[in-house]
Amino acid sequence: MKKSIFTSLILLTAISLFAQGDPALTEVWDPVPRVVTPGQSSSDAPSDAIVLYNGKDLLHWMGLEGGDVKWKNENNILTVVPGTGDIKSKESFGDCQLHIEWRTPAEVSGSGQGRGNSGIFLMSRYELQVLDNYNNVTYSNGQAGSIYKQHMPQVNVCRPPGEWQTYDIIFTAPRFNDDGTLKSAARITVLQNGVLIQNNISLWGSTEYIGIAKYEKHADKLPLVLQNHGNKVSYRNIWIREL
Ligand code: MG
Repeated sequence: MKKSIFTSLILLTAISLFAQGDPALTEVWDPVPRVVTPGQSSSDAPSDAIVLYNGKDLLHWMGLEGGDVKWKNENNILTVVPGTGDIKSKESFGDCQLHIEWRTPAEVSGSGQGRGNSGIFLMSRYELQVLDNYNNVTYSNGQAGSIYKQHMPQVNVCRPPGEWQTYDIIFTAPRFNDDGTLKSAARITVLQNGVLIQNNISLWGSTEYIGIAKYEKHADKLPLVLQNHGNKVSYRNIWIREL
């Protein structure tokens, strides 16, 4: 009898502590987030990022089919050389945060998909479109900031041709079951020039030019690919954080 009174007292004390709202009960002290030093500006890589392009060397890149990158690397800018193919990162990535800056040619030529076309293929297969859509109309789900042929951007926040633009991307890789079926779709959030254009949307599958996108089981990590679409699109300040 005594024991049960004692237990009840402890229980009552605990309940009353909760009821009174003891702030310590909801404090988490361990674990502690690790320290990361941010860059001086949003262009600069934070301390835990891999700098994929620092404006100098192309140590992190190779041609899509192997061999050296044939794009122009000059004045801290990497520019597509038409006819030399796509390029890919030597390292592979899955879940990541990617910062990349791009610029379509100041001298405008072509229209629709033919004007300043390039693209960022996450895991070599999910394209975030790069295109000059400043007063240039094309299909909405193929314009700059679209997940090509899947999701149009929420807004068109393109700067004029010849001006630098930014993409800040948060990407969650798809997960697959052992039998090859999809466990969870890839997800992506994109800010273009600091403005939200894709909000944690779910991808339908690998980017397809013709037909409906679908998933095929692939590795947990794959290279990042930059597209050569025959237009002299430039890149700079590319950094990535594995998540
Ligand atoms: Mg493209």
